[in-house]
Order: sequence, then structure tokens, then C-alpha cells
Amino acid sequence: MKRGDTIVVATKNAGKVREFAHAFGKLGMEVVSMFDYPDLPDVVEDGTTFAENARKKARTVAEALGLPVLADDSGLETAALGGEPGVYSARYSGEGATDARNNEKLLTELASVTNNGSEAEALADGTKLLSEAQFVCALALYDPSDASFMESTGYVRGFIMDKPRGSSGFGYDPLFWLNSHHKGMAELSIEEKQAISHRGQALAELLSQLASRS
Ligand code: IMP
Repeated sequence: MKRGDTIVVATKNAGKVREFAHAFGKLGMEVVSMFDYPDLPDVVEDGTTFAENARKKARTVAEALGLPVLADDSGLETAALGGEPGVYSARYSGEGATDARNNEKLLTELASVTNNGSEAEALADGTKLLSEAQFVCALALYDPSDASFMESTGYVRGFIMDKPRGSSGFGYDPLFWLNSHHKGMAELSIEEKQAISHRGQALAELLSQLASRS
């Protein structure tokens, strides 16, 4: 991958597309996503791990297009719910899931196991931290010309708040508290999020693998 290249990312998640476009834009590359290939069928994400789903998405789309494809499978793991929602993060609230409904479902589930946060740690403004949590991002880049994979994983640790904070980002960002920044993930700029996020970490690792190959 080099300046001027176009990179195909196997996602229809607008939040992810924005973050990849920002990251690759800084390297002089353009991102195209599944919004640019509306006729390609969705890949069924039936893997039990993020890495398995990322490999499946990258390979399926790359074979359909005959081009190298990058796929991201990511999600949220919470300690209080034994790792849930995990690989089910995007569809946690069921059929027709939206970010808002997934966040609502997460708070409902956490309330049922944490006694409504009554014993939880609280921030200065009274916001309660209901559970330790981490975001995980598995990336897979598949090149159909030699059937090769390149893979990486990134993590960021934080806590789930009992109420949302901030308005940037997507998904569970409004409920994710970062002790390191004393801010919620949705209060960070795209630049700040990229520097610390699971996706930013995984991308940095993948880019360094690519650089050491060329
Ligand atoms: P995927 O498209 O199956 O990988 O699902 C990813 C889901 O995990 C998203 O729909 C979000 O709910 C959640 N997620 C992944 N990355 C992030 C992030 O950076 N912020 C907030 N939520 C995320």
C-alpha cells in the first residue's frame, strides 16, 4: 500500500468508514467501502471470534472483487457480563439493532447484574462506572493474488458509564469512559480517538507489518 492507492474496506458501518478514511487519508490513500459496492451481498458473521469474522469478511469480498481487501471485526467486551456483547456487539439488541438500542440494552443488562450501579465507582459529577470493559478490533487484509492474510488486533480498556457522554464517534462510544483521558470516548476528536483506540492500535500494527514486508 502506498500514496495514491485506493484501499477497499469490507464494511458498511459509517463510523468505521469515517475512521479508516481519516487514517488512510493521512497516508495519501483513498478508502472505498461496501457503500461503493451496493450489489455485493452482506457477509454472514458467524464466527466465534473477532479474528475469524474479520478473515471471513476480507476473503469473501476480496475473492468477489479480485482485489486486496481489508476487513475489521470489532466490538465491546464487558467484565460484568462475562465478555458480552463481544462478537454480537453490532446486533446486541436484536433484529433492526441501532447504536441507540444497543446502548439501551447494554445499560439494562448491566443494571440487572450490578444492582443499578449502587455500589459502583462514581465520577465527580455522580456518573457511575458500571463495569470494566474493553473495545477489541481484529483486522485482516486478504490478497487474492497469492491467497495471503495479514492480521492484527488492537485493544483499549475503559469502563461503562451509567449515562452517555459526548457526541462524536459511534456505537458504544458514548458509554465508554477512559481513565487515561478523564473523558468519554465520544468526547474525543477523531484524531484523539485514533491515537488510542482499538482500531488505531490494530491499524498501526498492520501498517508496520506491511512496511517491514516491502
Ligand atoms: P462489526 O461491524 O460486526 O465489527 O460490529 C462492530 C460493532 O461493535 C459496532 O456496531 C459497534 O456497536 C461496536 N464497535 C466497534 N468499534 C467501535 C468503536 O470504535 N466505538 C464504539 N463501538 C464500536
